[in-house]
Amino acid sequence: MSDDERTPVGASAALLRTTEALRAGLAKPVAPGLYLVATPIGNLGDITLRAIATLAAADVIYCEDTRHSRTLASHFGLAASLKPYHEHNGEAARPLILAALAAGKRIALISDAGTPLISDPGYKLVRAVIEAGYPVVSIPGATAALTALTVSGLPTNCFLFAGFLPPKSAARLARLAELSTVDATLLFYEAPSRVADCVVDIGVALGDRDVSVARELTKLHETVLRGLASEVAARLVVEEPRGEFVIVVAPPKGGVVTDDMIRAHLQIAMTETTTRDAAQAVAEALGVARGRVYQLALTLKRGMDVS
Ligand code: SAM
Repeated sequence: MSDDERTPVGASAALLRTTEALRAGLAKPVAPGLYLVATPIGNLGDITLRAIATLAAADVIYCEDTRHSRTLASHFGLAASLKPYHEHNGEAARPLILAALAAGKRIALISDAGTPLISDPGYKLVRAVIEAGYPVVSIPGATAALTALTVSGLPTNCFLFAGFLPPKSAARLARLAELSTVDATLLFYEAPSRVADCVVDIGVALGDRDVSVARELTKLHETVLRGLASEVAARLVVEEPRGEFVIVVAPPKGGVVTDDMIRAHLQIAMTETTTRDAAQAVAEALGVARGRVYQLALTLKRGMDVS
């Protein structure tokens, strides 16, 4: 046996202790109720011992796609029956799940990856189960948003997870404009086909803030692009992104800039130069999007002309 094939002493101790912990978890009775079980977002090693024990004890595992989840179930030797729960059958499935809970069953809900309910189905089910008075238990684990936040290098003390942005640019810019005054790190999920356009729009609507774009987290091709929105967008445009992405955006520099603050700066700048140049200068000085400042400058100019 070569040195590489030998298990190091530390590793065999960890194996022993982990096996014992898993055995204890599997032996522990699981009470009836609805269990929201997080599964890995790519690397199967990220399953938790509690997740395995809960799924092993479940009478039924509800999942988005039974074929997809069967791979996970067979990887961990889970024998429970898999049934679909997604936005198209939720209405019909919920009464069946409530009836199973009434009969004292253990029901698990998982999604294709990560934590159920996080940009995935389950919210209406949790509401219905709470209203019917049955226990709801969350078995925490991986979620792409928090994994991306922690490696972003951006502030973690206050953040807003905003799910997927609208796919069309006009609606996306409008949504970003709503979020432009939020004094927190912003997190978005995005599809590979739209990630470059999305970061371009972030630069337009939020100003050239620091961003971090995490790709294929926990997987073989995990990468994190960090820099100003304009720099990261330029790289994404040439790279033809593939895989799964989370976009993390820094809070506005120097806190939230209100429209009143922008108007105050514009009132001075517009007496010295053209509307366009004033908007450009104020946007740069306050670190906010030029489009937003220019719109306010136009309204201000109209007001000034009228009076
Ligand atoms: N419930 C999942 C969670 O807890 O993260 C999210 C499900 S949502 C339908 C799928 C989106 O999550 C993807 O489009 C991508 O934006 C993000 N995502 C999931 N896995 C990822 C990964 N390994 N790396 C980067 N982003 C990922």
